[in-house]
Amino acid sequence: MDRQQEFVLRTIEERDIRYVRLWFADVLGSLKSVAVAPAELESAFAEGIGFDGSAIEGLARRSESDMLARPDPSTFQVLPWRGEDGQAGVARMFCDILTPDGEPALADSRNVLKRTLSRAAESGFTFYTHPEIEFYLFRGTPADSVGAEGGAVHAPVPVDTMGYFDHVPGGTGQDFRRAAIAMLEAMGISVEFSHHEGGPGQNEIDLRYADALTTADNVMTFRTVVKEVALSEGVYASFMPKPLADHPGSGMHTHLSLFEGDRNAFHEPGAQYELSATARHFIAGLLRHAPETCLITSQFVNSYKRLWGGSEAPSDIAWGHNNRSGLVRVPRYKPGKAQSSRVEHRGIDTAANPYLAFAVLLAAGLKGVAEEYPLAEGAEEDVALLTDAERRAMGIGQLPASLDHAIHLTEGSELVAETLGESMFEHVLRNKRAEWVDYRAQVTPFELRRFLPWL
Ligand code: GLU
Ligand code: MG
Ligand code: MG
Repeated sequence: MDRQQEFVLRTIEERDIRYVRLWFADVLGSLKSVAVAPAELESAFAEGIGFDGSAIEGLARRSESDMLARPDPSTFQVLPWRGEDGQAGVARMFCDILTPDGEPALADSRNVLKRTLSRAAESGFTFYTHPEIEFYLFRGTPADSVGAEGGAVHAPVPVDTMGYFDHVPGGTGQDFRRAAIAMLEAMGISVEFSHHEGGPGQNEIDLRYADALTTADNVMTFRTVVKEVALSEGVYASFMPKPLADHPGSGMHTHLSLFEGDRNAFHEPGAQYELSATARHFIAGLLRHAPETCLITSQFVNSYKRLWGGSEAPSDIAWGHNNRSGLVRVPRYKPGKAQSSRVEHRGIDTAANPYLAFAVLLAAGLKGVAEEYPLAEGAEEDVALLTDAERRAMGIGQLPASLDHAIHLTEGSELVAETLGESMFEHVLRNKRAEWVDYRAQVTPFELRRFLPWL
């Protein structure tokens, strides 16, 4: 047993932890959890805990369903929402998923990110990310809106009617943010900013930057913490990308940077916006591969309602300094602040699988760096207002218009196939095609409203 594993076992004894939840993500980024008694941990560290992989989206075929979850001791954390009032203490660890032979499972998305991070490391780079997570708070429960199968569907009701940066006296959002941040900090997740976002009941909480595996784990923890805190306040939190047609969707803008040791490889004093050649090639990679990676950064039918719904969500594959209208923004640079040179990807939404999304963005950027993709001049205007002719003249492409379109663009992608691995790649495509086929079969309220009185 190594020192980290020993530390976990000692802490469990000292803090009287009775259950340890082993967490991992399925292919869509939903959190899965199995609780084990502390007595099982030694063998969990050594061999992993067996489970039926075929029952979990994307993990295994029925014919080869045995899988093992092996906890990563560096992610051990006592859960602050248990263990009070005489309840048994509970802790969690993220897991790596292994086949029965102890090999990394092909469908483990955490492993996809780890693999991509090691590729970056081979070129001397560490990849840092800093996610800004947006979400809505709604009254009641989802069942109030969705009701029974086949019944009427009502739009969810936001907890307030306020907007961007509003201070809501006595508002649910404020209490909620305070409680959520306290809980996140108690779990070792540092929060940089939090505020009311543009939509009614919409909030944003920004996590401090860290290496991408840590931030991806933190995003998974974040979603479950935020849902727990919302429930304890009698409301619910939704990470649906576009829950309200007339209000902004929820993005997960992510700031990206590459470091070489302690040095920010995106920074170069004296260069335009102090952006190094590495940063410029990286941005060019993000842009060139945006059509094919969009299925991973915007993975649901509903994601495309956000991307094409305006409200500062990008549909144009453009970049600009201090320009929020395209896919990539270079935040206004502060001369001499070497550590803070970074690029913001604005396409990724709040329902993405963070492991896969960070992996494909890194792969796209690294490809740009390795092949020295040239970067066109940044856009200075609001690219969302350009005409098609202007867009063509400037060489600005657009993101796929629907899930179906995104599937087609990803089907031929070597970059995504290589990054995910063939079997996960095929699985994602199958899963997304099935979602599209279900969606295509719907007759929506929009169609009834528009066509019934007319046709
Ligand atoms: N909610 C917007 C989106 O869907 C972003 C607003 C902002 O700039 O933070 O991306
Ligand atoms: Mg925001
Ligand atoms: Mg942002």
